[in-house]
Amino acid sequence: MTVLKGKSVVKGISFGKLSIKNNVSDIYCDVKCKINDTELEVRRYENGKKIAIDRLKKLYDKVFSEVDKESAMIFEVHKMMIEDESYCGSILDLIRNEKVSSEYAVSCISKKMVDKLSEVDDEYIRERIADIKDVSLLLTDCIRGDSHEKCEMNNECIWGASDFTPSQIAEMNGETTKGILIRSGAVNSHACILAKAMNILCVAGLGDLLEEEHNGKDIILDGLSGTVYIEPDITTINRLKRKFKMCKKHYELLNNLKGKENITMDGKKIKLYANIGSISDLDIVKGNDAGGIGLFRSEFLYLRRKNYPSEEEQFNAYKKVLEEMENKEVIIRTLDIGADKKAEYFNLPKEDNPAMGYRAIRICLDRPQIFKQQLRAILRASAFGKVSIMFPMIISVEEFKSAKKVVKEVKRELKENNIPFDKNIKMGVMIETPAAVFISDELAREADFFSIGTNDLTQYSLAVDRQNNKVSDMYDPYHKSILRMIKLVADNAHKHGIWVGICGELATDENLTELFLSLDIDELSMSSPFILGIRKKVRETNVDEIREKVIKKFL
Ligand code: PEP
Ligand code: MG
Repeated sequence: MTVLKGKSVVKGISFGKLSIKNNVSDIYCDVKCKINDTELEVRRYENGKKIAIDRLKKLYDKVFSEVDKESAMIFEVHKMMIEDESYCGSILDLIRNEKVSSEYAVSCISKKMVDKLSEVDDEYIRERIADIKDVSLLLTDCIRGDSHEKCEMNNECIWGASDFTPSQIAEMNGETTKGILIRSGAVNSHACILAKAMNILCVAGLGDLLEEEHNGKDIILDGLSGTVYIEPDITTINRLKRKFKMCKKHYELLNNLKGKENITMDGKKIKLYANIGSISDLDIVKGNDAGGIGLFRSEFLYLRRKNYPSEEEQFNAYKKVLEEMENKEVIIRTLDIGADKKAEYFNLPKEDNPAMGYRAIRICLDRPQIFKQQLRAILRASAFGKVSIMFPMIISVEEFKSAKKVVKEVKRELKENNIPFDKNIKMGVMIETPAAVFISDELAREADFFSIGTNDLTQYSLAVDRQNNKVSDMYDPYHKSILRMIKLVADNAHKHGIWVGICGELATDENLTELFLSLDIDELSMSSPFILGIRKKVRETNVDEIREKVIKKFL
């Protein structure tokens, strides 16, 4: 038995045969095949291009109807890449000038683009490289009239590859695909995002541990721990079968908690909300009985696109979330762009230290046009449900006041134009910098609520980059300094009569639920699949009994 350890992307356990696909980087057709009739070759290329575009249109429609527009957008982007004049022109020039096959020309031009981009050390660019490879693979496939792989991907098994293209994931049959293993560790790639949306079990970041010789072997994929067992021994099979049963039972039991209150044994209530990044998350939010949305990461509406989303587009997205949530509270965090979340059209400068640079509220206050457009969309949507606004990365009272001033201006403009909105819309501060923690008493006088972003608070307090593998062992949200800061923020909030929540990943940690209840945290907001587990923990806790002991233990 061989055990591989990777990163869990989509949780669950499955048993099956592993089928390793060719490395995506092998897509290049390196054989410089000479041709005689260049115009015939050009027609072959144009025909292949047409088939590829048709295939992308179908994929767009499929993902649009089965998942959502945002997930489908990647196929629109790929279509634009295939149609790109400079890309097509270079391919045609190569066919005509060098008398080479269209497959070779496509591969050659795509490889040049990839080589050029590979020099840039940037997560976003790495993902664009995957897009170019995907487009190149599809084009050569369509030129050859090759549909072999597509049929093969419908067989029942667990697929492994260095990377999957979004179209490969989208074409997978959710019934027969028992899981996917990925060598690449880019868990935010389009492939991983689609796997999550389609609920296909997935472990990524396996690197070279996943070898060609594992092809065809029986494996167990443990997506809960990110472990893969190749040719498992009988003890492991039995252990994982038991884990599978427990996992199934656990989810069945948790299902019984739907509709129940988040109340401790001694009657203390807490709000359990969901974090979302797009409308497509709403089914899971409702399926897990979230009491509201505690963090709508609105910047995801701005990513993976060529230009700013219009006010109308944003308004429709916010309105849809509010309507689907049927009057439950929805907290929209304003644009938290920058650092790892980049959109090219923002033309953000390259910075040595982007996590501490030009990002989030700093950009919004510096570019009021963009900020006002988003606020207008949120305020217009506020007429359709219960919405609150939350500002990220705040470090001073002045900053928060400036943000509120812009909201006031937008409100005035809407009023002048008789556009309805919630006049009493609540505005909160995301406490995710040590600065905000230590002035939380002053911020509390200005804010309607606080939500503690422990992900950034941990990185800024411990000076440990949350994206850097090299220091990931030092990224310790249990550090006393973090937990004490949470207490300070909670005390300051309550002293000034406002509520306080936690929307960082720490909210999902069952080992800390007792502490958060003891500190009188009012709300925990998390990825929806964790909600019922935390509800169970809350309902099993007697705060009065454990408070003193727990506070002593952690603080
Ligand atoms: C946080 O920083 O804790 C947070 C919730 O925001 P994000 O992870 O989007 O930075
Ligand atoms: Mg943050």
